[in-house]
Amino acid sequence: MVLNNESEAPHQLAIGRKPDWIRAKAPGGKAFRETKALIDTHGLHTVCQEASCPNIGECWSRGTATIMILGDTCTRSCGFCNVKTGRPSETDLDEPRRVAELLSKVPLKHVVITSVDRDDLPDGGAAIWAETIHRVHELCPDMSVEVLVGDFKGSQEDLELVIAAQPEILAHNMETVRRMHPAVRPQADYDRSLRVLGWIRDSGLVSKTSIMVGIGETDEEVSDVLADIRSVAGTDILTIGQYLQPTRNHLPIDRWVHPDQFKAYRLEGLDLGFKVVESGPLVRSSYHAEEQAQQLAPEARQTASAMDAILSHARRHRSDLA
Ligand code: SF4
Repeated sequence: MVLNNESEAPHQLAIGRKPDWIRAKAPGGKAFRETKALIDTHGLHTVCQEASCPNIGECWSRGTATIMILGDTCTRSCGFCNVKTGRPSETDLDEPRRVAELLSKVPLKHVVITSVDRDDLPDGGAAIWAETIHRVHELCPDMSVEVLVGDFKGSQEDLELVIAAQPEILAHNMETVRRMHPAVRPQADYDRSLRVLGWIRDSGLVSKTSIMVGIGETDEEVSDVLADIRSVAGTDILTIGQYLQPTRNHLPIDRWVHPDQFKAYRLEGLDLGFKVVESGPLVRSSYHAEEQAQQLAPEARQTASAMDAILSHARRHRSDLA
């Protein structure tokens, strides 16, 4: 039912009838190559590459990337994700230092870091997470840090280690509606993810989550998951994007969601009380304020200023605690 890429060399599937609104910038150019060189020199992984993100041409040309820590091999096998599944090699204890060093060389105000799921580690990788956040804050004091974590198999204790490191934004993705969980995220659990989001809210940190659409859900079920997230976990920020099948071994695309429907989701999310909702075909969970601010759409400017206010508040909160 859920297949992950078995071959070493994942290939892009030529999806027929891709609508006009799914258009991404082709990777290449000087700035793109500079970003790639910086990442390669520091021996780091990015979710942009590992998950075959369609925005890589655009983001890397702007010098932004989402760093993926705890290696490049995930212990889970989600039906939508192109990150390699398997038994990870030994934990790289030097990784937090290299991440901070790389980030100290780029002129970013905000960074997004994520990781593979490490169910093989007793703490799910929480200690490495905490050290990475501390080191980035130390070496890049003006940079806000957004981290996207897994569910730590529902361990509040592990999550608390990450919370104690005080990232400015702490994200955990719901990914899909309740009914689709067994196919989309067989090792995760809908209610467990809601609990994780609730713990993040209780910590006082800015909380964020994402879902993708077009993988088999209905719009009614999308409404249900948005309502559940708000009522159970009071999450601040939501992103919604179109699922794109990375290879033919992954779950098929069920529908192309029209941009007007993405606008409707956004309004619905704002009505439910999310402070920021980014919703569009190519939106991904690491689609952040600095990128949005460069767009001309009025709602993007609105989102950028809301994100700015949220981040300034989070930065003040961290320095008050320091
Ligand atoms: S949207 Fe996120 S994952 Fe995709 S290329 Fe941009 S930074 Fe990377």
